[in-house]
Amino acid sequence: ATPTAVMVATGVGANHGVLVKGGDALERAQNVKYVIFDKTGTLTQGKATVTSTKVFSGIDLGDFLTLVASAEASSEHPLAKAILDYAFHFHFFGKLPSSKDDIKKRKQQILSQWLLEVAEFSALPGKGVQCLINGKKILVGNRTLITENGINIPEEAESFLVDLELNAKTGVLVAYDSELIGSIGMTDPLKREAVVVVEGLKKMGIYPVMVTGDNWRTAQAVAKEVGIMDVRAEVMPAGKADVVRSLQKDGSVVAMVGDGINDSPALAAADVGMAIGAGTDIAIEAADYVLVRNNLEDVITAIDLSRKTFSRIR
Ligand code: ADP
Ligand code: MG
Repeated sequence: ATPTAVMVATGVGANHGVLVKGGDALERAQNVKYVIFDKTGTLTQGKATVTSTKVFSGIDLGDFLTLVASAEASSEHPLAKAILDYAFHFHFFGKLPSSKDDIKKRKQQILSQWLLEVAEFSALPGKGVQCLINGKKILVGNRTLITENGINIPEEAESFLVDLELNAKTGVLVAYDSELIGSIGMTDPLKREAVVVVEGLKKMGIYPVMVTGDNWRTAQAVAKEVGIMDVRAEVMPAGKADVVRSLQKDGSVVAMVGDGINDSPALAAADVGMAIGAGTDIAIEAADYVLVRNNLEDVITAIDLSRKTFSRIR
């Protein structure tokens, strides 16, 4: 392809919301053999909603939600947003807002009024969040986070989680002052185009793979829905890059599609890194492509564009 052809292709991509950071990345996409998809926020909408809550101690549900929402208030994770929304609606139930602006204003009022003060907040990618509230440690996240902190997960909590996971939902556990106080179940639906895109890639001779920090049961249930056979679950951020490298070993060209901070090492390691436009800045920086429309069909558009631009010189 001539420099002019590359320039034209870059422009055509941009018009479709497919931004590519250079001619090399544009060229590599034609030979992609594996497309690895992150689950949360990439295959799924990244708009989780709370479907159930359970408290294990004698704590009041409203107090439980206030604690959890406070801990999650400065997290960017889709699960954190779902928890904040749910806590807001729980406390506001029955008081109808008059307009969208009213909702926004009330949300801010409410959140600043009853969110508790948080100290030493830290987000732990692939695991959850931790911070101090009233001088006591609160943990919100998956089994790994809880057990790493030496807290036991009772049978009642485990069966609540398993039940969610078998239904493609994600459960987070909440521990406060070294005691498991409750759990929240959430669902994050697939993007509307996800199934068609996975099918389309297979028809192009490309292998779809799913990689996620979420647990095995949820991962497998979601992969089945979307038609992906090759699933890697409970993978920490550095592990996602290892998955990329292991597929590259025989010289295969590997694309990674992701949205989160936790995906950036894998986006950087991939031959073709594609960041979801609605994703975090860190993911966008690490990627070769930005899919501005947040539509997975653009993964195929990008590969097609590369194939069309470079086919004549092969
Ligand atoms: P994915 O790889 O599918 O994008 P993540 O690596 O972001 O998923 O998260 C993996 C798991 O870590 C989640 O399913 C959840 O259990 C836990 N987790 C991560 N961030 C949070 C958070 N802010 N609050 C609660 N749980 C979290
Ligand atoms: Mg993600």
